[in-house]
Amino acid sequence: MYRRSIKSRVRLESCLAVSVAALVFGMFAISDYYLLGSTRELYLLLAMRIVVMSLCLVLAFIIRRRGGYSRNVWLHALPLWIFATGIILIVPLRPESLSTQVTAVVVATMAFYLLMPNLLTVVTFASLYLNIGFLVSAVLFAEIEPMATLRIALLLIMANVVGFCALLRLENLQRKQFALLHEERDQNQQLHKEIANRTSLEDQLRILAELDALTGLNNRGHFMKLAEGLFQRSQLDKVPFSLFMIDVDHFKSINDTWGHAHGDRVLTRIAEACASSLRPMDVIGRFGGEEFVVALPNTSSEDAQIVAERLKKTVAELSSEGEMSELCLSVTIGIAVANPEEIDLDSLITRADRMLYAGKRDGRNRVVMCGKGMEEE
Ligand code: GH3
Ligand code: MG
Ligand code: MG
Repeated sequence: MYRRSIKSRVRLESCLAVSVAALVFGMFAISDYYLLGSTRELYLLLAMRIVVMSLCLVLAFIIRRRGGYSRNVWLHALPLWIFATGIILIVPLRPESLSTQVTAVVVATMAFYLLMPNLLTVVTFASLYLNIGFLVSAVLFAEIEPMATLRIALLLIMANVVGFCALLRLENLQRKQFALLHEERDQNQQLHKEIANRTSLEDQLRILAELDALTGLNNRGHFMKLAEGLFQRSQLDKVPFSLFMIDVDHFKSINDTWGHAHGDRVLTRIAEACASSLRPMDVIGRFGGEEFVVALPNTSSEDAQIVAERLKKTVAELSSEGEMSELCLSVTIGIAVANPEEIDLDSLITRADRMLYAGKRDGRNRVVMCGKGMEEE
């Protein structure tokens, strides 16, 4: 995962490192010219430098294009081996400038380790090839003494150890940093999931606390909270406020005849029918059993009457539905309209309830509004 994350950076950095190294390697042709003049060795050196430079520049271009690690590690190794070969070949062609070449080998070794990102094995092998090849070449072509050989060997070993340790530490650090970052990202994701989970649980809890499980309408407690707010607002704004108490007629006989489960389904359909015949501003709740309550803000007694009649009609029409065709469904609705001086929602509910029972007494399936006479009853 770490390698994948640094893929594009590695391509860019490797391409840059190889290109710059190729150019620097080519520029040493100037010092060759001053040292050798127009000799056969100079032309051989020039030819070698041009071959190394061209190959490396082509490889740098390919690395930039498709230098992914996973399948093309050799692509990253190849320029190092070409450079190493070029440096080793300088020894037989310019044996007298060995001391400068030792410095060049040390610098090249450090550059291998430090400029090629995240390729410790590739770099180590290329570097060993460069160092051993250079030393062998120096012994064979520059005819150096055993003590000088030992000095150069120790210097090169030191350069390799320093380069290797530096790269090892760097790679370890970068990997650890990546792992930490990844862990943190994981924890963040988990935290987000946990938050989403809690939010959904809160929503579910709220639904459980506010809605009636069977009908999906507001439960009594939540209805009272909403209705209280609407009622107070209406009284403050001095606009009319009405309230319905609705009771399903002879519901017990539906349960007795068709069973409680069927009774539940009928009750749910009635609740849906009631809710659908109200206006968006009205609030409905299940008051208990087969009784519903509706708060109608900004609604005069005439409007309340119209809404209640429509609601009663919608419920009656349910009987024509397939599953309910055997039933004769009706509701009785008691309406109370708030007086301007009324301060208590409960007293309004009591009045609507009284109207409801008046309707039941008078034969059910009707809408009964709180008239003057009845209020005083
Ligand atoms: P009325 O016209 O006088 O209102 O007669 P009713 O039969 O509707 O009234 P009653 O109060 O005698 O019976 C109400 C019935 O409603 C009794 C009860 O079993 C039933 N009921 C209350 N809540 C539920 C419910 O959640 N599901 C079902 N299936 N029945 C319920
Ligand atoms: Mg009842
Ligand atoms: Mg009833």
